[in-house]
Amino acid sequence: MEIKREGLVSEIADPETVWDLIVAGGGATGLGVALDAASRGYKTLLLEQSDFAKGTSSRSTKLVHGGVRYLAQGNIGLVIEALRERGILLQNAPHLVRNESFIIPNYSWSSSIFYSVGLSVYDLLAGRRSFGRSRLISRSELIRRIPNIQQKALKSGVLYHDGQFDDARLAVSLALTAREQGATLLNYFRVTALTKEGNRINGVLARDLETGRMYPLKAKVVINATGVFVDELLGMDAPGSRPLVRPSQGIHLVFDKSFLGPQDALMIPKTKDGRVLFAIPWHDRMLVGTTDTPLQAHQPEPRALEEEIRFILEAAAGYLTRTPTRKDVRSVFAGLRPLAAPQNEREKTKEISRSHKLIVSDSGLVTITGGKWTTYRQMAEDTVNLAIVTAGLPVRACLTKNLSLHGFKESLAWSDPFFVYGSDALAVKALAKENTAWKEALDPRLPYIGAEVVWATRCEMARTVEDVLARRTRALFLDARAAMDMAPAVARLMAEELKRDAVWEKEQIVSFLAVAKNYLVDG
Ligand SMILES: Cc1cc2nc3c(=O)[nH]c(=O)nc-3n(C[C@H](O)[C@H](O)[C@H](O)COP(=O)(O)OP(=O)(O)OC[C@H]3O[C@@H](n4cnc5c(N)ncnc54)[C@H](O)[C@@H]3O)c2cc1C
Repeated sequence: MEIKREGLVSEIADPETVWDLIVAGGGATGLGVALDAASRGYKTLLLEQSDFAKGTSSRSTKLVHGGVRYLAQGNIGLVIEALRERGILLQNAPHLVRNESFIIPNYSWSSSIFYSVGLSVYDLLAGRRSFGRSRLISRSELIRRIPNIQQKALKSGVLYHDGQFDDARLAVSLALTAREQGATLLNYFRVTALTKEGNRINGVLARDLETGRMYPLKAKVVINATGVFVDELLGMDAPGSRPLVRPSQGIHLVFDKSFLGPQDALMIPKTKDGRVLFAIPWHDRMLVGTTDTPLQAHQPEPRALEEEIRFILEAAAGYLTRTPTRKDVRSVFAGLRPLAAPQNEREKTKEISRSHKLIVSDSGLVTITGGKWTTYRQMAEDTVNLAIVTAGLPVRACLTKNLSLHGFKESLAWSDPFFVYGSDALAVKALAKENTAWKEALDPRLPYIGAEVVWATRCEMARTVEDVLARRTRALFLDARAAMDMAPAVARLMAEELKRDAVWEKEQIVSFLAVAKNYLVDG
């Protein structure tokens, strides 16, 4: 279904409209809250200052997981919750979440026993939502499954199952589902101030970043779901508040899939310096990460540090015979974890809780931060429950446990390049037949075609070349150089759809190239 921005903007034009909830932030958390609230029948508006999932939510390791390492830390409650949510997500979005087999290579007999036992517990905790039993595999089976594995001193492997997904595509699916449930969602709309009646927040001021126009908007409750930016909204409410969040950066390198076997992911629970490393097959590439680097400040487009790139290359070299080098890197991307700020400044970020934090300020501002993609639904349910009490909204039960997400389709062929669209794939393919130019591949290195640009612009609220190349398609994350070469063709197609002129087209290319160069690693 086509979505016109002008139509969405007209829904917020009347300053007397009182929204039940206004959600600031269109990442996993905000989108989950908007969907939960709209599906309960509350009048819901979501405002995102950039594009949906532009922040952390497009930069994850792409795991829908209980968290094997949280199990090792003894955080059983967190693991049980995440395993349950993993199962719910697979049930509601089978076109975007898949069951992936992971192999832990064991270089000592003691780790064979430790991880076999640990992962049996992981299976047990998943209960009826198990993704499959873990098992010990022999050295020879491991080598057959991942021929490039470092074989020296290799004893055995443990194979287990977890979920794998496309984060930015799930964000699009959540936005479209929320829309279908009656929410109004706008990207490129920034909350610039909170308005109050007495001490209570009664709305926001928001700027349309495309036109510069300001909108006063009234709400019974405002939800701060702005990820690493939460302190800015808290500061608008109560200047000088103690920071809630501390950013910790994680980066990933993307390589050709040939470094891995045909199907399995590799999980290193403890690298030589004690970190977790994943190498995961993703869209016909291999994704390797991540790091955990405390930062003092955050920015909308975080950049990988040289030492992080070096760490991943060195760590991967320890476990792969044919080692990936700098010149093999197709893309590097960085994301910021909105971790709860420690009380004790000496705490390391690795040790800070990853479970979510939900608070209500004296003004009635509801802030939700932390957590992970896997648990976005539970976080949303908790947030809306709290918003109901805070705003005195009529109590209605949460419906998202059994709510299929936009594009829901079972029995997909994962080899179909259009699988991420789920039930929309037919419509995208039909577009390709409508116009021969739209059938063409945008670049021989990636599977994307012109019809996907048109679809993203018409039906998925893409507004910029970056929206299309980074988040509607994943070109920038899969092959930064190819994405840069695709930019002029994408700008052309979008300009036609959005009725923009040559100046817009040129500006779009320039600004995309400025962002994309940060995804390249110099050889
Ligand atoms: C390296 C890394 C790997 C990870 N891997 C996994 C994983 O494999 N599995 C998993 O489950 N979780 C993972 N996570 C965690 C998960 O990605 C995050 O918990 C989740 O994406 C956070 O979503 P969010 O919506 O809270 O924040 P964000 O996605 O950052 O969204 C916040 C949004 O608010 C917007 N915003 C800010 N200020 C304003 C304003 N004034 N007005 C309007 N909008 C505003 C921002 O533009 C942004 O889009 C990972 C995190 C990192 C960093």
